[in-house]
Amino acid sequence: MKKQILFVILIIVSICILSAYVNTNEVSTGESYKEPTPILKVVIDAGHGGQDVGAIGDSGQYEKNFTLSVAKKVVNLIEQEPQIQVYMTRADDSFISQESRYRPKYANKLNADLFISIHGNTFSDSNVSGTETFYYHENSQTFAKAIQKHVAEATGFKDRGTTKKDLFVVKDTKMPSALIEVGYLTNPQDESKMWTDDFQNRVSASIVEGIKDYRAELEKQDHGIWFF
Ligand SMILES: [Zn+2]
Repeated sequence: MKKQILFVILIIVSICILSAYVNTNEVSTGESYKEPTPILKVVIDAGHGGQDVGAIGDSGQYEKNFTLSVAKKVVNLIEQEPQIQVYMTRADDSFISQESRYRPKYANKLNADLFISIHGNTFSDSNVSGTETFYYHENSQTFAKAIQKHVAEATGFKDRGTTKKDLFVVKDTKMPSALIEVGYLTNPQDESKMWTDDFQNRVSASIVEGIKDYRAELEKQDHGIWFF
């Protein structure tokens, strides 16, 4: 009986210490009494690079250049957002081997909050068209859906939805992650749009909108959980 009482006391003390710790952290990171919005660390991954050219589009252009161009535009937009810190797995035509697993490792080491891999799709049938987003872990599904919703709207291509897929960049990353296949570079109509500045600007803005939507959703949930 005595042991049980001691155990209960121990639990109560632990809860008190934990709540004090959480409160202290909130105070120390905020500049005022208003609850601070934490800085979101986002990794933007331009698919392929260097000798890994990715898909070869209908026009003969390489996917690696499409992904880098969109990634740079996304980064430029996020840099205007004070609450989001952005990182790139590659900012030039560097080759990153799959075997190194560098992309997910980089995001994990940074302890990033979100990971977004940008790609252009390919298929033997040039009629196939559309935008889709892949994820792997359950904790990425909501994020993938937020991204897909905005990007599909921006491309105007067929909305192919979100799918769970065993891709190492989304599987090995510990944070919510999504791989976007913006459109099919093998579809001549899609591809001709995909190389335009206007299209890429729209897609980049939609990715940032997806991030913001997801963060707003998280904040709503946080208020429900942290009431002590
Ligand atoms: Zn790709």
